[in-house]
Amino acid sequence: MNRFVRHWVHCFVASLILVPTLASAIGNAGADGRFERRDSFHFTLFQDVDLDESGGLRGSRHFEQQVLNRLEGAYDLLDSLLSLRPERKIEVYVWDAQIFDARFAGLFRFPAAGFYGGAIHIRGEEQVTGRLVRVLHHELVHAAFDAEAPRLSLPAWMNEGVAEWFEARAMGKRGLSKGEQNALANAVRQGALFSLADLSAPSFQAFAPKAAGLAYLQSYAFIDYLVQAHGERDLVQFNSAVIRSRSLERAARRAYRQDLESLERGFRRSLGVRS
Ligand SMILES: [Zn+2]
Repeated sequence: MNRFVRHWVHCFVASLILVPTLASAIGNAGADGRFERRDSFHFTLFQDVDLDESGGLRGSRHFEQQVLNRLEGAYDLLDSLLSLRPERKIEVYVWDAQIFDARFAGLFRFPAAGFYGGAIHIRGEEQVTGRLVRVLHHELVHAAFDAEAPRLSLPAWMNEGVAEWFEARAMGKRGLSKGEQNALANAVRQGALFSLADLSAPSFQAFAPKAAGLAYLQSYAFIDYLVQAHGERDLVQFNSAVIRSRSLERAARRAYRQDLESLERGFRRSLGVRS
């Protein structure tokens, strides 16, 4: 959980809540009104990071090209790992960090590194860092679910859990780190674990920082548990059954041949919870 308290988290924002705020933010044309636009096959990138030059290795053109290359790589990985292939072009805004904070901090009770609300919004950095790449992978999952099932409100444990899992998997991580396992063990000892029902709002944006940290971690841990216990292919089947049937229960029975409640019981048992 420390990871989430220390670092910025990335999230999904229910677009209905966001529309007025975003419309006014983007209507003002961002930082200095000079969003650079660049397209790749699946993405349209707008970036407003305060870079001094346009050419050269530290210039904005190189930065934009690198971000788009990473996004296209993430798109291919999303297809091969999760069989998600959003058809429509995805818009990605990379904001100057200060302007991002000034405009969007009020949306969350915790610091956010990026969010998805009809388009991907990233708190920019001046270089393509590992952190930036992680956020791009994470937000792409939200964008893909939204593209595949536009009016389907997924529970945050699924939307954030799959995004966290994909982000970690893209970085070559399989399974929870020792620190993450310890944080969960602490939550179990303190009786602080959330139920899936607690994590079923469309987003965690109203959660206080510490609770949000645990909520993200637990959502990731639940998806990781499903993968460890049943394999990656069943997760693909679960996701596509949710999108098709719009029912978590039907999807759980189809992919895992059990109901959500018994999957949750198995997860809690795996954490040593005695019920
Ligand atoms: Zn997210």
